[in-house]
Amino acid sequence: MTVKPWHGGELRRDAETHGWSILAAGRAARPHVPARTGCPLCPGPGEDTPAETWRLAGDDGWRVRAVHNRYALSDRHEVVIESPRHDWDPATAAVSEVADVLTAWQVRHRALRADAAQVAVFRNYGTAAGISLSHPHSQVAGLPVLSPATRRGLEIAREHHATTGRCLANDELKAELTTGTRIVYADEHVIAYTPFAPTADCELRLTLREPRADFAAAPRHSVEELARCLRAVLAALRAEFDDPAYNLVVHTAPTGFEDAPFLGWGLQLVPRLAIAAGLELATGIPVVTVAPERSAARLRNRLAAAAV
Ligand SMILES: [Zn+2]
Repeated sequence: MTVKPWHGGELRRDAETHGWSILAAGRAARPHVPARTGCPLCPGPGEDTPAETWRLAGDDGWRVRAVHNRYALSDRHEVVIESPRHDWDPATAAVSEVADVLTAWQVRHRALRADAAQVAVFRNYGTAAGISLSHPHSQVAGLPVLSPATRRGLEIAREHHATTGRCLANDELKAELTTGTRIVYADEHVIAYTPFAPTADCELRLTLREPRADFAAAPRHSVEELARCLRAVLAALRAEFDDPAYNLVVHTAPTGFEDAPFLGWGLQLVPRLAIAAGLELATGIPVVTVAPERSAARLRNRLAAAAV
């Protein structure tokens, strides 16, 4: 039985799958219904957050701040409060504000990876995606181990590089651009597309045209281009699916692989349009009901309509 203590939390490894589970008893106490009044993340007299770890100062206080997570998986788990405004939303916000949030993710990723094997960065939106507070926020959590999926992804990318001398993520992007049917958004810098074998209906991936291994090292001008794309696809998803819940996660190099020539970072955006059921549980194989080519066409139409 393998147990890994981790800054006040604990991970346990399954002997048969080598998959890890996080035991986080403290998270059971978190609210399940988003608070309607007395938001603890809004600035003002009702503000009630654990200690701050970082802030982006604004004219009148802060624009984005990171605090320890009250219901943490471990002491390496922070909340990024994305705006002082309770009704702030990345689908409608100024591009620079969305970029500020992405910058916060980069800064806290760099801080938390110092003693972690990998750092998870994610934004949950909507009750179906697991939110417990309605104030716009995201989370950054350092973990002491690599998940089997991360490990396998590393192996596949390394093997591809050893065989071809090229980066798999970049090769995949080039193939997507050549095919074109799954591209949702493409400009000089950034691409969003529905993957060939999606894990959910209308799943999207967003990245730079030539992504390097480390998301946290992307320069501000690239982050702003990414923010523009993210805002556009979030607005298109909202228009197409009536404000769906979603999970947005960052896939980037694990600690020690920041300069690996065989890796490319990307954002994965998964709208929660259906509930995973027994087949997924039995086999680990997701079922999608709409071909990604069709999903891409629908979102392209939305983006074109929004641009008119
Ligand atoms: Zn609030």
